[in-house]
Amino acid sequence: MFKWFGKVNYTPYTKVTDFARYLKNGHFMGSRCKHCGARSFPPRADCEVCMSGDFEYVEVSGRATVNTFTKIVAAPTGFEDVAPYSVGVVDLEEGGRALAWFGESIPEQDIAIGMKVQIVPQIFEELEDIKVYYSLEQPGTTWSRAPGHS
Ligand SMILES: [Zn+2]
Repeated sequence: MFKWFGKVNYTPYTKVTDFARYLKNGHFMGSRCKHCGARSFPPRADCEVCMSGDFEYVEVSGRATVNTFTKIVAAPTGFEDVAPYSVGVVDLEEGGRALAWFGESIPEQDIAIGMKVQIVPQIFEELEDIKVYYSLEQPGTTWSRAPGHS
């Protein structure tokens, strides 16, 4: 059901491939700059505050609040079959922001700015390329590892 996600909304993690390894082990990570302490999500190898390349991973809960959302009615070519669908920008409890698609656990009519959601990460690996997307689900939704991996 989610196979189309990876085509249109993914974050390539070329410098932070450990992120995917953590995800596969059930840990959802942001990053923290070892130099100035700035936290970032998605994780960044280079600090956006002080430009230091020295960072460490810190686990995030995935709890987030909807900042804004939009309903995609006129889908791009290739996605007509799945439109309409809704995407949201959410603020993570620990800081940072993510763009994600609303999952099946949240009916469209329930979507509202300020609502609490749980970000559920999914990863795809294509050869050397690792792609991650996020779906938004009801608070308390649990996950252990991306589906399709054992
Ligand atoms: Zn920094």
